[in-house]
Amino acid sequence: MLEKRDFYINGAWVAPAATSDCEVIDPSTEEVCAVISLGDQADTDAAVAAAKAAFPAWSTTSKDDRMAVLKRLLDEYNKRADDMAQAISMEMGAPINLARNSQTGAGSWHLEGFIEAFKSFEFESMLRPDAPSDRILREAIGVCALITPWNWPMNQVMLKVAGALAAGCTMVLKPSEVAPLSSIVFTEIMDAVGLPAGVYNMVNGDGVGVGSQLSVHPDVDMVSFTGSTRAGTAITKASADTIKRVALELGGKGANVIFADADEKAVKRGVLHMMNNTGQSCNAPSRMLVERSYYDEAVEIATETANKVTVGLASEEGRHIGPVVSEVQFNKIQDLIQQGIDEGARPVAGGTGRPEGLNRGYFVRPTVFADVNNDMTIAREEIFGPVMAMIPFDGEDEAIKIANDTVYGLTNYVQTQDKDRARRVARAMRSGMVEINGQGRAQGAPFGGYKQSGIGREGGHWGIEDFLETKSISGWVE
Ligand code: NAD
Repeated sequence: MLEKRDFYINGAWVAPAATSDCEVIDPSTEEVCAVISLGDQADTDAAVAAAKAAFPAWSTTSKDDRMAVLKRLLDEYNKRADDMAQAISMEMGAPINLARNSQTGAGSWHLEGFIEAFKSFEFESMLRPDAPSDRILREAIGVCALITPWNWPMNQVMLKVAGALAAGCTMVLKPSEVAPLSSIVFTEIMDAVGLPAGVYNMVNGDGVGVGSQLSVHPDVDMVSFTGSTRAGTAITKASADTIKRVALELGGKGANVIFADADEKAVKRGVLHMMNNTGQSCNAPSRMLVERSYYDEAVEIATETANKVTVGLASEEGRHIGPVVSEVQFNKIQDLIQQGIDEGARPVAGGTGRPEGLNRGYFVRPTVFADVNNDMTIAREEIFGPVMAMIPFDGEDEAIKIANDTVYGLTNYVQTQDKDRARRVARAMRSGMVEINGQGRAQGAPFGGYKQSGIGREGGHWGIEDFLETKSISGWVE
């Protein structure tokens, strides 16, 4: 079991002022694997004060200096990849292979994307050639509160920290109290990078405590949050009195539209994508929309695919899926599966209860529902577990209508061999991202959503922009 760790404030590990603790539970065993302190107002204030004091110097460092920091971060991060994978696997239940490759790998992948985008990033430009004395400056917004969730911990921490660093912001990271261990390793990495004191600070805490304190803090200029729409709404309201910029990466209810002419692997690929990370991804393709003429065959393929997905301990090597993160999530998912049955959807794989042979741990059966309609709860709510809903459709217009009939708009998917149709449908989808025929996104592509999936974009050029103000100066003479 890990010992309780201090917070990282003003370039040093310091003992928390806080008196309350929080147990971290290994979701594979339901046992306590670490204890952290939950910060209180004094910890929050100290971290924000350190970030505020460091801002004037850090925000005026040269682009070269900040590029050097990003490159050192990449080196130090890669050195600690094994420790990072172990921490992620234990705290949120990602099987160790997934933790090493996708989870830990996401951090370095995004950082490389930032480094590439930063090379050509311009902080100063002329408005237009015919207005040479109008100068446009892009300047760091200030002190940023970075509040992150448990599902892709390093993906989200790196998207925020590296973007804020490149922009010249100073920051306070508050990782999820459910999965704080990876951020402790990350903070050791940041310590090794050797930044000026106060540029990067980390305080553990929960939403009611440190999360809310950061959101209302008068010296915080921006909150960058990833997590539930519920918390995103609370943060937006809490930030309103001090007119903070709020960037939000929230939930999703992605549609994967499969036309009858889709490639033969499309359905299998969609199911496996859904089950990846035990369904705990905001961009999961959780609604599979299938053209009616292909629907019965697609249901058969989906059933067979889901039945072959194995479930096991996070510590074991292999391509199985792990548990979901917590008892709260386990119970929520069980209730939603039951609700699917009660509302008349047809479970063709999985169902309620644990998979056979697993009596402990928050393990969920890989579940597929057929004959779902888009008004059912399982088609509307973000389940955040390995549960997929299949919905038949007739024609392109209906597919687009169903895909867009959701409060979310994060990632949608299209599968067809008709290139014109693929582009038409992708354009018509009201979402920040669309993936065609299983093609993954390139490094540095903007990540973010429309509607209630969020505000702002992370990653690459856009992820630096998110942390900048725009200043317009006239009368500029070289
Ligand atoms: P959450 O949104 O409650 O927590 C995410 C982060 O926000 C944590 O660091 C938490 O401490 C903090 N937080 C919570 N309430 C806050 C508040 N009022 N002010 C400031 N910070 C606050 O997520 P959760 O409870 O861990 O999961 C609940 C649901 O959220 C899941 O079932 C899932 O649907 C969704 N979720 C979505 C994503 C995503 O990437 N879209 C990620 C995690 C969870």
